[in-house]
Amino acid sequence: MTAAALTTGWAFHERYLWHDTGSAAGMLASDRWLEPLGHVDSAASKRRLYSLLAVSGLLDRLERLEPREATDEQLLAVHDATYVERVMALSAERGGDAGDGVTPFGRAGAEIARLSAGGAIAAVDAVAGRAVRNAYALVRPPGHHALPDRGMGFCVFANIAIAVRHAIRAHGIERVAVVDWDVHHGNGTQASFYEQPGVLTISLHQDRCYPVDSGGIDERGAGAGRGSNLNVPLPPGSGHEAYVAALERVVGPALARFAPELVVVGCGFDASAYDPLGRMLLHSESYRALTELMLEATDGRVAFVHEGGYSEFYVPFCGLAVLEALSGERTAVRDPYLDECARAAGHELTRDQERVIEAARALVAEVPG
Ligand SMILES: [Zn+2]
Repeated sequence: MTAAALTTGWAFHERYLWHDTGSAAGMLASDRWLEPLGHVDSAASKRRLYSLLAVSGLLDRLERLEPREATDEQLLAVHDATYVERVMALSAERGGDAGDGVTPFGRAGAEIARLSAGGAIAAVDAVAGRAVRNAYALVRPPGHHALPDRGMGFCVFANIAIAVRHAIRAHGIERVAVVDWDVHHGNGTQASFYEQPGVLTISLHQDRCYPVDSGGIDERGAGAGRGSNLNVPLPPGSGHEAYVAALERVVGPALARFAPELVVVGCGFDASAYDPLGRMLLHSESYRALTELMLEATDGRVAFVHEGGYSEFYVPFCGLAVLEALSGERTAVRDPYLDECARAAGHELTRDQERVIEAARALVAEVPG
């Protein structure tokens, strides 16, 4: 075993920060009564996470993985050809929107979206091929809302779904699990594998936040995939203990039962207390704890892929905690927001939160064993 095989892989490309989401106001295009402000999915939270990793010294200790643009074949394993062609055509002109009016991209934006999927592929490849122990892909645009026939929720291509399909084909893997803890429902990842028994998809998210009409506990997969989708729609206001309980009582047992050969985490940081698009209360030590629980549940072999997270000042500290946990290294950085955030009310598990977690736990017995 080489030294690299014991390290944490790191997939990133400067071009991710050039993904152009334009001059919206929040997520909506500016309008008669909506002054232009900037799209909420700006590069800032990702750039600042990268910067903190660099100044902390941790970046130098990660094994660099080179993202390449996803090929047509890789994209078409998930997406319809007409959709890919439409994105490519818009990208060759002046850019456009991937489908829902809140997923803009600029000229040449399709290449960045392909490179984002390629970052997820690089991380999954390195973990599945045992070139590294685990990996983190800091990619942009995100992917978990993208559907086979259209983009959605800032997501152009379904990064994780594309990487999972690639891993199944390239590495001969038969069982993959995706655990998505972005605060929004991973509807696109769910849709990509809804009828497929070999891929277990689990989403922890804020109940009826986005998309507001999906992510219910009753969405459990269909046909041959029945039982291989689990949703844990936590009430708004859930904090540290609710997420830890969801991992310990639902995710851990589901992974133990499904016994995947590869686990991918959809790592969104928009469940943090400071996020403008979520109403949850997590802090950097929550993300550290969740990552450590994933390492325990997966024998340490896991590929993390960045999803959402819109607090420009807080995502870096949450991301650093995840990278510290993955790499087993502790930097000198201390989260200056942690004390206030961790002592604030709302971190104790409530009966309403527990009711949801227990309902999801009851479905673990139906996960294919
Ligand atoms: Zn999100």
